[in-house]
Amino acid sequence: MRALVVEGVGARPAVTDVELPAPGPGEVRVRVRAAGVCHSDLSMTNGTLTPGYPLVLGHEAAGLVTEVGADVRRVGVGDHVVLNWAPPCRGCWPCRHDEPWLCAEAGAPSVPRGRTAGGGPLHVTLGLGALAEEVVVGERAVIAVPAGLPFESAALLGCAVLTGVGAVTRTAAVAPGESVLVLGLGGVGLATVIAAASAGAGRVVAADLAGAKRELALAAGATDFLVADDTLTRRVRTLTGDAGSTTPSNASAGPPRSAPPGGPPGVAAR
Ligand SMILES: [Zn+2]
Ligand SMILES: [Zn+2]
Repeated sequence: MRALVVEGVGARPAVTDVELPAPGPGEVRVRVRAAGVCHSDLSMTNGTLTPGYPLVLGHEAAGLVTEVGADVRRVGVGDHVVLNWAPPCRGCWPCRHDEPWLCAEAGAPSVPRGRTAGGGPLHVTLGLGALAEEVVVGERAVIAVPAGLPFESAALLGCAVLTGVGAVTRTAAVAPGESVLVLGLGGVGLATVIAAASAGAGRVVAADLAGAKRELALAAGATDFLVADDTLTRRVRTLTGDAGSTTPSNASAGPPRSAPPGGPPGVAAR
């Protein structure tokens, strides 16, 4: 099967043939039907993160279960699923204390899986390697979704939506009427804007270096859009009655160049 593979830091990703193993006990094979590109894919190729190589990129995808190994109970052949790059092990200390998002086993940049066409070792991003025709993963790494949900929409639930919505509803716990500043309007930032608006935030200020993001930001529910420059802090304070935003949320590719004071700092949804 074909996959998008990068050979090492700085190398250009290329579509190549690779081989995946048959699903073992507790594992499933998924035919990928839609996949997104995330900033973390860039981090896997430019030295920011340190995965193993050659590496199959991709961790945001949805598809169809086509094969199940022994003892698989949660899904069956034909199920529509979203891939989960941080499945909790349910056995480590945080998992056993109802904090599965802190699982000690989840979130490694890559794991060895499959072989290159030449028979060499192969690694997959975040246990998935989703920019590929197929993945073979543990059943805990797939979540069944309704068959009527378009694959293109379902795929986004695997990273951008999860991160942006989680930043609003879990990390910041935005309350109705609070003001929210979202820095950076990629997939995560736009999901943050949508979640903040649906949480009843009073003012949702969206900022990006690219002015072309204005239309998308307003369509997603932002009350205001600002091009991020050195005057951002002053303009945000003006918009929010000089109080600054209650919840600054950084969904940009780098640290904010200017963030207003007020509210819990470090709400990062990158
Ligand atoms: Zn991602
Ligand atoms: Zn765990």
